[in-house]
Amino acid sequence: MTKSRQPTSEALYNTQTHVISTDYIKCRWCRNPLAPTSGAGRPREFCSQACRQWDWVARQRATELALSEDELVITRTERDTLRDQIFVLKCAVQDVEQDLDPSIDPTTRDYKAALAWLLEAAKPLVQDLGQA
Ligand SMILES: [Zn+2]
Repeated sequence: MTKSRQPTSEALYNTQTHVISTDYIKCRWCRNPLAPTSGAGRPREFCSQACRQWDWVARQRATELALSEDELVITRTERDTLRDQIFVLKCAVQDVEQDLDPSIDPTTRDYKAALAWLLEAAKPLVQDLGQA
């Protein structure tokens, strides 16, 4: 058992039912789940001091640009990269659905190849998520 382990999305993944709970409070900046606060006091809003600081910087910048609460600015490169990664994942999902079609009786080898392809396509999307 790991000491003082911060809860992660894995911790909220129920291995029995394969359901990811979304019923928890998230860091306002990085959206990582926050540990439930015990006792009185203000509930936590950020998972780390770094996230608190980035949120503050972003709010300052939003004020300067007169952005509303629902608007944000990201670079074209960031947006394009994200869209490309999502496109690759979408293709992988389509490939895997075809390759594992029950009517063609896929083999264990097919399942392994499908899982490897899915992981390869999904990893770039989660690697960029800031782990505080
Ligand atoms: Zn955070």
